[in-house]
Amino acid sequence: ASVVGIDLGNLSSKIGVARRKGIDIITNEVSNRATPSLISFTPRQRFIGEAAKTAETSNFKNTVGSLKRMLGRSLSDPEVAEFEKKHINAELVDVNGTAGVKVNYLGEPATFSYTQLVAAYLGKLRDIAGNELKQTISDVVIAIPGWYTDVQRRAMLDAAQMAGLNPLRLINDTTAIALGYGITKELPESPENARHVCFVDVGHSNFSVAVVAFSQGQLTVKSTAYDRNFGGRDFDYALLQHFATEFSAKYKVDVMSSPKAVFRLATGCERLKKILSANAEAPINVESLMNDIDASSSLTREQFEKLTEHLLTRVVDPVKEAIAAAGLTADQIDAIELVGGSTRIPAVKEALASCFPGKSLSFTLNQEEAVARGATLACASLSPVFRVREFAIHDITPYPIKVSWEKEAGNPDEDTELVVFPKSNPIPSTKILTFYRQGPFELEAAYDASAKLPGAINPWIGKYTVKNVTKPANGDLACVKVKARLNLHGIMNFEGAYMVEEVEREEVTTVGEGEDKKEEKKMVKKLQRTGDCSVIGQYTSLSKSAVDDATEQEGKMHAEDKLVLETEERKNALEEYVYDMRGKLEDRYAIYVQEKEKSALLEGCQEAEDWLYTEEGEDATKSAYVAKLDKLKAISDPVVSRWKENEARPKAAAELREAT
Ligand code: ATP
Ligand code: MG
Repeated sequence: ASVVGIDLGNLSSKIGVARRKGIDIITNEVSNRATPSLISFTPRQRFIGEAAKTAETSNFKNTVGSLKRMLGRSLSDPEVAEFEKKHINAELVDVNGTAGVKVNYLGEPATFSYTQLVAAYLGKLRDIAGNELKQTISDVVIAIPGWYTDVQRRAMLDAAQMAGLNPLRLINDTTAIALGYGITKELPESPENARHVCFVDVGHSNFSVAVVAFSQGQLTVKSTAYDRNFGGRDFDYALLQHFATEFSAKYKVDVMSSPKAVFRLATGCERLKKILSANAEAPINVESLMNDIDASSSLTREQFEKLTEHLLTRVVDPVKEAIAAAGLTADQIDAIELVGGSTRIPAVKEALASCFPGKSLSFTLNQEEAVARGATLACASLSPVFRVREFAIHDITPYPIKVSWEKEAGNPDEDTELVVFPKSNPIPSTKILTFYRQGPFELEAAYDASAKLPGAINPWIGKYTVKNVTKPANGDLACVKVKARLNLHGIMNFEGAYMVEEVEREEVTTVGEGEDKKEEKKMVKKLQRTGDCSVIGQYTSLSKSAVDDATEQEGKMHAEDKLVLETEERKNALEEYVYDMRGKLEDRYAIYVQEKEKSALLEGCQEAEDWLYTEEGEDATKSAYVAKLDKLKAISDPVVSRWKENEARPKAAAELREAT
């Protein structure tokens, strides 16, 4: 079994694997430790990750990112219009009530929901990990923003399933970071003297804070706070607007009217922003921005901070909120650990430091890879493959969950709802609810109205129908117990219902000591389970058949991608053979080739080369390239083996000489 942890970043994703000697962050096919979170659809094939990033410039309308932002969202969500749309170049569409994209794929319009897109992307990460570990990847832990709701968490599980993955846990980003921090540290023995660490992750799109208490063998998340719409991309956008205005005036063009120009400028802005983290001034150069104009300018750090003031003033809020929610003050925080690419911005660091007077910020964790490392550790501790140090994770849920029902007839005083898992309830957790009922009834779970959910995301969690409720013989209402569970993924399910009856039973107890010891009989009332109720649960997860269909479709696209790649490889092999053989016939093989063979090979090479230039040869099937190459090899193989034999001879002779 595999032990893999995934940090699905909005800009780029990182994969960790567990090995005997520890956790490694693995590299992709071009040796990068982070893989762009992008999918690009083209007339010929689908590119995912690095290849999608390469294709993006010329194909940005069919290149899709913002995967984790859009997962589980509906198109009508005002947050999509307000925060996401400006970062998305593809056409957004509704796919069965959730957001998706319409792209041009294989020469035709095609639509995919973000759940499918995340599945495709996870499939790429699965292949990268599989390639590294030389095995099929199944067990994983996927890190998600702590603010993900039930709908988003279920969508992530659906996507993972479509990619053939088995998530042992969806872990909150900051909890993963905390695990990676704590597992190797010397920690205070007693929880009373816990070490309190404030983790701050400012990435590309999101800003998370968690206050975590560490003591020997455990971590407890005390509080979390977020600015869900704050990250590097907002700084990029502020720069984009600035330079769009500047260039529009300077070069008499309307930059914002051209998506292509906006795309190019945005790339330049991100580069400039990064340079400004280490320099007081930085240049920006955008080649053929519009109408063949090469645009250039520069910006000082001071100007940058002015342009992004509206963002910088927001930095302190989530930090203050998290500390207060933990019931602590800033001076009770023992360490402040920063991760995420945007904590490299000097003004962001300054703003964070201002929350902790007299303390310094720590950068002991790997800023890019801390989440993936932590997720991998979480996977290792849940998997039987490796033995890891016991380390308990006490995490909490971000929003209160309530269960509601209809009043039982004849019981006007009955409440009709209850917050079963309040905000900050531990994950996982099980609660038993008790109902007195005449017959079947329904329960509904949803986030409580007080929850500050992302945008207009669906607060509804699920519906549970409890059937065949039978009243006891004495005519009382049936007492039904329903099990509600908030599982390790932070997802809530009803997990069963059963009836109980109070029965009187004789119980024998022993009282007294020694000589006085005697048995006493007493009647006691006990609850006894009298039968299970049959139940139907409905949640926002996709139906099994929908997941199966999407899995099949994804499998097909994956197979096509693979075929296109292999065809390309076989075509290259043929081209290379032609080139290589011609040279060697005059050189290496010259004395081993018969005239007849040589002319056949030269003729064959010429024919193959001519064919490769025809429309047919340019775009043929894999088997056509293989057949052509095999035919040529049949002629050249005897020549090659003659050469090989002769090569081996002097070597063998030399070895013989040495041996004697
Ligand atoms: P998220 O956590 O929001 O899903 P992510 O995990 O992909 O996104 P990170 O890899 O943590 O994000 O950070 C990427 C962001 O950090 C980008 O916006 C990038 O421009 C920014 N960034 C990276 N290096 C620097 C730097 N030296 N100075 C300023 N910003 C930087
Ligand atoms: Mg991140």
